Amino acid sequence: NAATAMLLVAGIFAIYRIDSGRRLRMERELGRAVRNGEIEVHYQPQVRDSGIVSGAEALVRWRHPSGKLLAPDVFIDLAEESALIGEIGLEVLRQACETLNHWSSVPRTRALRLAVNISPVQLLDGSLVSSVSSIIREAGIDPTLLEFELTESALAADAAAMIERMEVLESTGVSWALDDFGTGYSSLATLRTLPVRKLKIDRRFLAEATRQESAQQLLGKIIEISHVMGMTALAEGVETPDQRELLIGLGCDHFQGYLFAPPMPRPELHAWLDSQRLP
Ligand code: C2E
Ligand code: CA
Ligand code: CA
Ligand code: CA
Repeated sequence: NAATAMLLVAGIFAIYRIDSGRRLRMERELGRAVRNGEIEVHYQPQVRDSGIVSGAEALVRWRHPSGKLLAPDVFIDLAEESALIGEIGLEVLRQACETLNHWSSVPRTRALRLAVNISPVQLLDGSLVSSVSSIIREAGIDPTLLEFELTESALAADAAAMIERMEVLESTGVSWALDDFGTGYSSLATLRTLPVRKLKIDRRFLAEATRQESAQQLLGKIIEISHVMGMTALAEGVETPDQRELLIGLGCDHFQGYLFAPPMPRPELHAWLDSQRLP
């Protein structure tokens, strides 16, 4: 009846108000996060098929004023919608370059590479190229040790504009990897024109390949496509030795996942690296 319907509508509005209140507060807090030094970077190792560690991926964390360490899925969408992602992304890059600078100063870690995620929102911002160039210059790092990751779905909106920006950044010495590959909609024609050196195969493909013979064949074909395109293939979400063996059999070049190590703060990463074979 009408009364129940009214109550229902009132309820929905109440929930919506609480939710948008929380969102606003979080947006305000996120706006101060960079200034307050609350942005942290964790590092997850990337390993070659030979077992040699090639480097790591930088993954952002937010040390919230409440003391909780928040994962990116809680705040990246908000950061992208509110344009705070620009500032946050540059802070991640600054910390990553500082780490690369540290690695370069120690002979054993000199050849390690670092991957940094670039949001499509950042890529379309006209000031990204000059900001990135000055961060690289100030850190005094070798840009060829830096890899940027762009999620494949970013190419759905305006591939031409994205590719143009990617090329400008590539000309500064950094290289590109295409992230979450297989979940976007890029055509093989587009793929061929991308300034991308590495395909990061979304972990769903590996998870399915472990359960299903046909999915295993698909994974093998994706790895083959990477190679035909002149790119290397990295499998995300490698969790078991069986998965690693399967991937080696399929010709996959690089791995990343909990089997090797989770994302870790820098001191823990360095302790982990101590027991590994490095390039
Ligand atoms: P991503 O780039 O695909 O990063 C890989 C995610 O998979 C990470 O989650 C990592 O912790 C998780 N992961 C790693 N190994 C395994 C595994 O073996 N099994 C499973 N189930 N998961 C694994 P995280 O750190 O929570 O990051 C989530 C997403 O947030 C990232 O996905 C990336 O899209 C985004 N992100 C992270 N850092 C940044 C950043 O600095 N800038 C931007 N724009 N986005 C970022
Ligand atoms: Ca990534
Ligand atoms: Ca990914
Ligand atoms: Ca190989």
